[in-house]
Formats: sequence, C-alpha cells, structure tokens
Amino acid sequence: SVVVVGSINVDQLIRVQRHPKPGETLIGTSMEFLPGGKGANQAVAAAQLGASVRLVGAVGRDSQATVASAILTSAGVDQSAVRTVDEPTGLALVSVDDHGENTIVVIPGANALMGAEAVQASAGIIAAAAVVVLQGEIPADGIAEAARRATGRVVLNLAPVIELDADTIRRADPLVVNEHEAALVLAQLAPHRGVPTEDAELVSRLLEVGVASVVLTLGAKGAICADREGTNAVASPTVVAVDSAGAGDAFVGALSAQLAAGVSLLQAVRLAVRVGAFAVQSRGTQTSYPTVANVLPTVNA
Ligand code: ADP
Repeated sequence: SVVVVGSINVDQLIRVQRHPKPGETLIGTSMEFLPGGKGANQAVAAAQLGASVRLVGAVGRDSQATVASAILTSAGVDQSAVRTVDEPTGLALVSVDDHGENTIVVIPGANALMGAEAVQASAGIIAAAAVVVLQGEIPADGIAEAARRATGRVVLNLAPVIELDADTIRRADPLVVNEHEAALVLAQLAPHRGVPTEDAELVSRLLEVGVASVVLTLGAKGAICADREGTNAVASPTVVAVDSAGAGDAFVGALSAQLAAGVSLLQAVRLAVRVGAFAVQSRGTQTSYPTVANVLPTVNA
C-alpha cells in the first residue's frame, strides 16, 4: 500500500484581468474553492490509478475541511489518519491574470502542526506501507520522522525545497525533483561545490552525494530516471498543455502507485510521464488527474 504523509489544502482560485499593485483594489472576474495541497494531490493521483492509499495529515475544524477532502473521498483514499486540529485548514490563495501569470500565497494552517509528534502518532501505519510518499509542505521534523519510521520505499518529492538533514534526503529512493529543486538540494548537501547547470550532471551529482535514486522531472521534456544501475531519459508524450498546475503531483502519485505495485523505477517513470502529460491537458489539479481507464490504452501500447 501507499501512505502519503503530507499537506492538505483548499486552493482558492481567483481570476483577475491584471494583478493589483500594493494599495490598489480591483474587481476580479471569478472565484473557486478547489481541493489541493501536494500531499492530497499525490494521494488522489495514486488512488485513481488503483493503489490502496492512506493519507496522514491534518485539517481544521472548519467547513474548508469538507472542500479539501471531496476528491480524496471519491478517489477512495483512506483518511482515518487525517486529524482534525485547532488551526484552520491550509489555504493556497491563487490569483491568475489574463496572461496566465499567477501569484500564490500559502497559509499552512493545520499542515504546520504535522511535526514529529503528530507523525509519530501514525508510526504504525507508516511502518506498514510498501511506499511512503513525502513532500516539502509539512514541517521538516515531521518529514524526518516519517522517513525514520518507514520500512518500505521512501518517495521524497522535496517541493518546495526546505532544509532537511542529510540522512533524511539520503533515505529517498527516489528523490523526485525538478531542475530548480535539484540545484537547491545539491546546494544543501554539498555547499562547498558549485551547482551544475546540465541535467545529467545534476542527477549524477545527487547520486554521488548518496541519494539512492533520482527522478528529475523536465516538464514537456519528460524526466530523467537514475539509480546505481544506470540513467535513462524518458520522454513525455507531446500534448497541448492547458494548465500545468499539479502535473508534478500527478507524476509523483503515479510513480508511487506503480512502485507499490512492484514495478521497476524505470517502468514506474514511464507511466508517470504519461500521467503528468494527461494532467496538463485540462484545468485544475486533482480534477485533471486520470483514472486507470484514461491511461490504460497508452500503458498497453
Ligand atoms: P513541476 O511542475 O513539479 O516542475 P514538471 O513541470 O516537470 O513538474 O511536470 C511533471 C511531469 O508532467 C513531467 O515529467 C511530464 O511528464 C508532465 N508534463 C508537464 N508539462 C508537460 C507538457 N507541457 N507536456 C507534456 N507533459 C508535461
């Protein structure tokens, strides 16, 4: 099974013709409340591909908690280890202007309470998982505790990049990052060395500093998958991208579901790029994720 330990948010999406300047008031054109948070997104992506998924996280004692859990529930994610706490449900305030340019403010709220102690309360669930999936949207000591309790494979999507101890990062198998995040992780692990600009070099340096395997996501170009056995580039299908928000989370969820099913890392990346490409073709994050039926024809091709 897959256990995701991570963030749960509501994305408040507002549309404006242009972004206001400080002190300025503008009338926007629309508003939506959508379920989000990297942990929840990845849990939904994995569950919709058939994995048995549990989510460990926290929401507030508020009506936003219901919004946050809507698609988790319909996807069949086990939320019995999602605690209700006295902070508000996490919120991402996303403004998108007519050029598609966005600004985002995240209020962690309940997610900020997912430190070591809260994670420890789910130690048994974490230890029993074949795959434990982590991101950078809960406190560093909560991530470290989850990595310590895991006995299965740890998928660490260090996004956003936060400061983690080297042992936790080295527990990742794989570490899933984009180019920007890879550079920041290297700067943390080997601060005295310059950070390379070439993708292949970023990957080989991460392996060199002790990460067991690395998956570097490259947007429309797909991903690079690397471990001690070798390094492979995996191309993404060519699609018309409508909204890339949440594509990285779809990718990580798909990858984790495949690893839990027992396939090799390279095989898992081959499905994950297809799932990422599927997710960019429609609006939204969780609402754009495929089910097994959506990706089956390409899986068998
Ligand atoms: P992040 O948003 O975390 O930086 P990426 O942009 O690398 O992540 O996207 C993750 C995955 O989604 C990619 O590896 C790829 O499979 C897919 N993807 C993203 N953008 C596109 C695109 N324009 N065309 C096809 N696939 C895409």
